[in-house]
Amino acid sequence: MDHNRPENPPLVAANGVSKVFPVRPGLYASGRRYIHAVDRVSLSVSAGEIVGLVGESGCGKTTLGRLLLRLETPTGGSIFFDGVDITRLRGRRLRGIRRGMQIIFQDPASSLNPRFTVRETLVEAILAHRRRPSNRDLNARLAALLQMVGISIATLDRYPREFSGGERQRVAIARALAVDPRFIVADEPISSLDLAHQAQIVALLEQLRKELDVSFLLISHDLDVVQRLCTRVAVMYLGRIFEIAPAKRLFDHPRHPYTQALMAATLSPDPDSQKRPLILPGDPPSPQDPPKGCTFHPRCPHAEAQCSALEPPLRKAAPNHFTKCYFDV
Ligand code: SF4
Repeated sequence: MDHNRPENPPLVAANGVSKVFPVRPGLYASGRRYIHAVDRVSLSVSAGEIVGLVGESGCGKTTLGRLLLRLETPTGGSIFFDGVDITRLRGRRLRGIRRGMQIIFQDPASSLNPRFTVRETLVEAILAHRRRPSNRDLNARLAALLQMVGISIATLDRYPREFSGGERQRVAIARALAVDPRFIVADEPISSLDLAHQAQIVALLEQLRKELDVSFLLISHDLDVVQRLCTRVAVMYLGRIFEIAPAKRLFDHPRHPYTQALMAATLSPDPDSQKRPLILPGDPPSPQDPPKGCTFHPRCPHAEAQCSALEPPLRKAAPNHFTKCYFDV
């Protein structure tokens, strides 16, 4: 059962999705080992929603985003897009579904082809999924895309190296919008930018959310940005969802000890001050050998005996608010 569905029918839904990667044995180790990058996760994104996905590095956020886009094939569970089961789709049918989905990467410098001008980048994206329009329609489309992301039409024939980091990310966002997607995974879209450009890209995403009928999964370390942009937020730890709730409720009343620790470690009382890195006390356990019971118990200040014996369920703590902890701490 999906505990995390908002009230509107989902556009994208993962139902009990898992992804296991085999790991090469070390020099002295024998036998195959596996990493459970994503472990029985259920998560949905409805039309017009921006769902935030937060957690420490290596917790499985990016893998979950790639699974929702079917850039990875799950090893368990199922994925639906607009009511269609896309879990095992391949070839032309998968390419057809992908027209409605896009990804924005962390580093626009490496995601844009340095040999392509802005015009070539956008035309390639437009033509990848539709027949060539007339030159007039194509030029109108290019102008509309650049206007949407706040880049001058005069820059159409420039190369990525001629832009700042923030402008490159705007071009990458224009490329994602070129196919009129219904769902975008934005994977740390501001973390490679300086503070001034971060603020501009956040303002742009906020504007797009209001103006376009696009749903987003926003993967981010930056809880200030997630709080500002997202309608709901899911918190991940070692491949599992630990808490999910509407954004305001989660930030006003975080229930899970891990969410509370994340917020204490990173949320800044002064939004203009330098961001603090997301580092919690204690080392995260190895995903190859996660602790038994609640996987957070070695780091949890509220752990009791039962926490190391049995895994707690993701339980309803309040309307639309779910937490994977035995207690109301
Ligand atoms: S189940 Fe126990 S160890 Fe896990 S978060 Fe809750 S109190 Fe902490």
